[in-house]
Amino acid sequence: MQQRIYWHTTVQMPGVSNLTPIPAKVDVAIIGGGYTGLSAARTLAKHNVKVVVLEAETIGWGASSRNGGMTLTGLKPTMQAVIKTYGRELAKELFQCSLDSVNLVEQIVQAEQIDCGFARYGHLLTANKRKHYDALQAEVDFMAKEFNHNVRLVAPKDLRAEIGSNVYHGGLVDEVSGGLNPAQYVAGLAAATEKAGAELCARARVTKLERRQKRRPEQVEGRFFIQTERGNLEAESVLVATSGYTGAATKQLQKKIIPIGSYIIATEKLPDELAHELSPKNRMIFDYKHFLNYFRLWDNRMIFGGRAAFFPENENTLAQSGEILRREMLGVYPQLKDVKVDYVWGGTLDFAFDQMTHVGEEDGIFYSLGYAGHGVAMATYLGATVAEALLKGNIKEHPFAKFAFPNAPLGLYNGNPWFLPFAGAWHKILDWVE
Ligand SMILES: Cc1cc2nc3c(=O)[nH]c(=O)nc-3n(C[C@H](O)[C@H](O)[C@H](O)COP(=O)(O)OP(=O)(O)OC[C@H]3O[C@@H](n4cnc5c(N)ncnc54)[C@H](O)[C@@H]3O)c2cc1C
Repeated sequence: MQQRIYWHTTVQMPGVSNLTPIPAKVDVAIIGGGYTGLSAARTLAKHNVKVVVLEAETIGWGASSRNGGMTLTGLKPTMQAVIKTYGRELAKELFQCSLDSVNLVEQIVQAEQIDCGFARYGHLLTANKRKHYDALQAEVDFMAKEFNHNVRLVAPKDLRAEIGSNVYHGGLVDEVSGGLNPAQYVAGLAAATEKAGAELCARARVTKLERRQKRRPEQVEGRFFIQTERGNLEAESVLVATSGYTGAATKQLQKKIIPIGSYIIATEKLPDELAHELSPKNRMIFDYKHFLNYFRLWDNRMIFGGRAAFFPENENTLAQSGEILRREMLGVYPQLKDVKVDYVWGGTLDFAFDQMTHVGEEDGIFYSLGYAGHGVAMATYLGATVAEALLKGNIKEHPFAKFAFPNAPLGLYNGNPWFLPFAGAWHKILDWVE
């Protein structure tokens, strides 16, 4: 099992030959070169804004080239929970954003001719227990009544048409969701962003960000001074798009984001017949557990992910996670017992304390963070719409800016997630108790 991102073997990722020089002055500097940063930069450049993307590693290095490629409707919390917390009107706006986000990915892929296999495969949410199935049944009526959105219940006896496994107690299908190859998508998005006129600077970790004092009262705004590992610059505005990799350069935001590891394995190529048996409709599949698994086919490989270890990746968590995920995969698909696992890799998710995604502006710094493993479509969409709001000066009207971005309870967090082992154990306990 190689410790390598399988997706990177399917495309030429943007590299570091011919590093773009750091410009001295820009209108907007974006920190982070994933879907959020690139989508925002593409939108701004199309409006003739001078924009630079500053990426610590290589463009697309973060979660955006490591994920499962599931391009999903909905949010991380259930829409029932969202209505309860935020009320019907805002919940409808937020859900509509999720539908628009999948449409936007589709539009970008078509308009920019990105060869990343995007298709509306639909997603399948599987019930691990009988009582999950009852909840899914209620979900079908709820989504139709509250959101006019049709999802379909799959009875246990019909499940074989959706998945070649006997372990689930039924499921729910949403045909609107899609799937793609995430690395091909981010590489294509980067090329489109550059074509639109944005500058993409790899190996440009931002180490310091400060707002220059106004020198005279009549001056309207202080510009931002930004220090990077290979040069400094000034910007009128800054957008933080650093997801699970948010660091000390933006400390106030780092304290609101919990970085959580997520891992994926990819099997060797399966014979057509076996691949078809595992997932006859090529769905994006995930289960109902807190400690969930998500999986799908790509090029006849089973791509199987989960929160095997809660800690962000290192050599130990990778080796361990590879084994755990293989066991989980065989639990779902015993027919893969003799199949070789070719790759294991990990990436970091960004969870806010309320598990919601947040956009907004703090001290003149714009941000879009907290995708909680639900960011392929949403990061693309929020990057674009936050960029539009930045131009119009109306970020407060953005649906995802209409609720507070919470700090840690009792302020007990400075960006170092000491509680992750407990959180991991807690999720396991919840799955067991429920
Ligand atoms: C294993 C895994 C599986 C996932 N599966 C799915 C899925 O199937 N469907 C789905 O919807 N979502 C999924 N997600 C989530 C999704 O990938 C993310 O929400 C999305 O990619 C976030 O994009 P982003 O641009 O905000 O962040 P990222 O792509 O993570 O980019 C952030 C970038 O910021 C850079 N950075 C950090 N600090 C600095 C600094 N100081 N200076 C400069 N650059 C900096 C980092 O190097 C990084 O490249 C998954 C995530 C992971 C990790």
